Amino acid sequence: MKNYDYIIAGGGAAGLSLAWHLSQTAKANARVLIIDKDKKQNNDRTWGFWHRQATPFDKIVSYRFDKLDFFSRFYSQRIPMGSHRYSVIRGIDFYNFMRSSLAAFPNFEFLNATIEKLEDQPDGATAITDKGTFSASWIFTSIFKEKDVVAAAGKALYLRQHFKGLVIETDEPVFDAGSFTMFDFRTPQQGAMRFFYVIPHNARQALVEYTLFSEHLLPKPEYDAAIATYIAEVLKIKSYRIIDDEFGVIPMTTYHFPATQGEHIVQTGSAGGSSKPSSGYTFMRIQVHTKKVAAALAAGKSPVIPAVSPLRYRYYDAVLLNILKNDPEKAELLFSKMYQNNPVGRLFDFLDEKGGLTNDLKVITSLPPWPFLKSTGQLLMG
Ligand SMILES: Cc1cc2nc3c(=O)[nH]c(=O)nc-3n(C[C@H](O)[C@H](O)[C@H](O)COP(=O)(O)OP(=O)(O)OC[C@H]3O[C@@H](n4cnc5c(N)ncnc54)[C@H](O)[C@@H]3O)c2cc1C
Repeated sequence: MKNYDYIIAGGGAAGLSLAWHLSQTAKANARVLIIDKDKKQNNDRTWGFWHRQATPFDKIVSYRFDKLDFFSRFYSQRIPMGSHRYSVIRGIDFYNFMRSSLAAFPNFEFLNATIEKLEDQPDGATAITDKGTFSASWIFTSIFKEKDVVAAAGKALYLRQHFKGLVIETDEPVFDAGSFTMFDFRTPQQGAMRFFYVIPHNARQALVEYTLFSEHLLPKPEYDAAIATYIAEVLKIKSYRIIDDEFGVIPMTTYHFPATQGEHIVQTGSAGGSSKPSSGYTFMRIQVHTKKVAAALAAGKSPVIPAVSPLRYRYYDAVLLNILKNDPEKAELLFSKMYQNNPVGRLFDFLDEKGGLTNDLKVITSLPPWPFLKSTGQLLMG
């Protein structure tokens, strides 16, 4: 059995980010094995995220915006983002960037294998795969089965952000690449929060994504039908070709993903609770968490660092999730007021859980109180 200092189980966003952050620390000489069942040679997703400062991934950002568009029945506006930028990275560019950066460290090995089981041991942990068993002092895993999480979540609120996106190309220039659409509610809500997210690549190409925050997924043809209707009736595009697509499901839950699976197995990524419950945004939270884990290892401290939000943000997330579950028709108005009554920087700080109490109160008091009071009452009544 081959032994490593660290095994990274799952080489997706969190696994590769952890490896990369480790390679930037005094632990860059650790023996690390990154195991993934997928070779990560496809563009299986696109990450969008806002930020103020430069990121380690600036070189591979495909699209960057300083304005966003918001459309609803109540409020439609192009909004400058102040000192924030919204950047978009293609999954394949991220995977290639990580592979080539880590190639400088021969002590970081990649293994294309399916992990069957992770086992905690008295002095470390083992990964049992279809290509052998490997051991390490610590295993960091981002692998989880949604059905296990749903079962463990019990009475916690559990919604899904589920979406289908098409990258389309048109003959005529129709997109304005100077801005992207964060929310377009001009689609029937039908008992769930539904909106479109549009990332223009240039005047003739864009990612058009139909997104729902709800308990249950739709039958596949319903995503396609809604996208076709939006492209024809809202974007008023008559002819286009589909050149790529993506489908995703992100957990939106008040369930506390456990930080560990045993003494030496640490959970990261969505499996470790890095998906923001009320928005699904995960990519930058993964960076924050995996950087802390790498720094702890480098400092000889425990890498068990729960990715848990401060109590008041967990409360806000719970209140909003409860509205999305029980009062979804209110979502369009609430999000409209949120964007109408606040500078985007204030909202992004609120969503990043770092604006301070005064910032939080400004956002909260800008919203109609009744749905929140009702939701709080429902949560208190259990
Ligand atoms: C299509 C899509 C688009 C998204 N867009 C955004 C966005 O714009 N902004 C944002 O902030 N978040 C976004 N997210 C949410 C989140 O950022 C991503 O899901 C992110 O990839 C989560 O990182 P992760 O490491 O937890 O999981 P993953 O990146 O999914 O990594 C888990 C890895 O484990 C591997 N694996 C699974 N089971 C096994 C096994 N048994 N053996 C070996 N390997 C295994 C998988 O192949 C995968 O590579 C998106 C998610 C999806 C699905």
